[in-house]
Amino acid sequence: MLRERGQREVFCGLTGIIWLHRKIQDAFFLVVGSRTCAHLIQSAAGVMIFAEPRFATAIIDERDLAGLADCNAELDRVVARLLERRPDIRMLFLVGSCPSEVIKLDLSRAAERLSASFMPKVRVLNYSGSGIETTFTQGEDACLAALVPILPVESASAKQSLLVVGALAEVVEDQFRRLFTAIGIDDVRFLPPRSAMQLPAIGPATRYLLAQPFLADTARALEARGATRLAAPFPLGVEGTTAWLHAAAQAFGISDSRFHTAVAPEQERARGALARHREQLAGRRIFFFPDSQLEIPLARFVSRELGMELVEVGTPYLHRPHLAEELAMLPAGTMLSEGQDVERQLDRCLAAAPDMTVCGLGLANPLEAKGLTTKWSIELLFTPVQGFNQAADLAELFARPLVRRARLMV
Ligand code: SF4
Repeated sequence: MLRERGQREVFCGLTGIIWLHRKIQDAFFLVVGSRTCAHLIQSAAGVMIFAEPRFATAIIDERDLAGLADCNAELDRVVARLLERRPDIRMLFLVGSCPSEVIKLDLSRAAERLSASFMPKVRVLNYSGSGIETTFTQGEDACLAALVPILPVESASAKQSLLVVGALAEVVEDQFRRLFTAIGIDDVRFLPPRSAMQLPAIGPATRYLLAQPFLADTARALEARGATRLAAPFPLGVEGTTAWLHAAAQAFGISDSRFHTAVAPEQERARGALARHREQLAGRRIFFFPDSQLEIPLARFVSRELGMELVEVGTPYLHRPHLAEELAMLPAGTMLSEGQDVERQLDRCLAAAPDMTVCGLGLANPLEAKGLTTKWSIELLFTPVQGFNQAADLAELFARPLVRRARLMV
């Protein structure tokens, strides 16, 4: 394991708003930030001018930075105007940024104050999406961790229930719900929920499965409320999905025969769909730059199910307890790196000349210009990739850039 600390090339946590605003459909994300923050969100989410977006930026300008304006009074005014214009909003997240942190604007107090004014119709919460010492998926972790304290308490007589934690595309969520029912687990809830009005109750009878590997703070908050994590690999690929579902089946006392009967047809179909991509990808060498925190589960999937060779697997942070099952499945001797010193890592990557490099947007074009084939890691967050039905789509995300380059070279 190589640990590096130096210059990093990552997006900030504001990026999570792009998938979270689609998920909690009556929530609104108000970034308290600069024009740069507004530009990032606006261009990354590609909002049409006539749409009613569920995010915006309250811009901190020079007067605020110079301490000439009362930021709290301005924020109260912006929020009041927003909520008056958008009566559909049930939950408002004030999202902190680098500038709001630099001027030490206390958004947790602002959220409390505004909640007191607008409850019960609108609840106001806050979290930080700042790019100081974070990577972009931590925005989701911070958002979900902010939700945990307001989740209702499960009743004293509650039977064991399952909570799936981590934003999943609705199509994936529906598939998992069907599979859990087929296995024999009916009481399944999801965090984040689709509506701010459907917050799942939690407590000591809650067993939770992480659907994403970057939710350390959320997990800690859930455990403080008495919930218990079911240790499992993440639901990427046939193998990961099977083990993830199986962890729940075991915790709920479902027999192995019932489990296998329920999942076998889906496994079969998914393996068939993967075969085509395996032919294209087997033996290809892949290098992961640290970016999304999905790198280790992805490396496990591409090496074991697609036959790719791992050159280096970088991750911004390594949460060993949450990734223990994944680490155990990596090929012996896999080169892992945690953190980043981007120049050194670029040197290693260029020297290794991998067939495929998974990296952030900022590195992709320069690497393509040097003749490497790249895959944007952020795409793996925007695309439904979890579960059996998506295993081939996930493989295709790796195959497509190679096919494109081969076509360009003909
Ligand atoms: S939060 Fe920080 S890193 Fe992110 S866009 Fe705003 S200024 Fe840039």
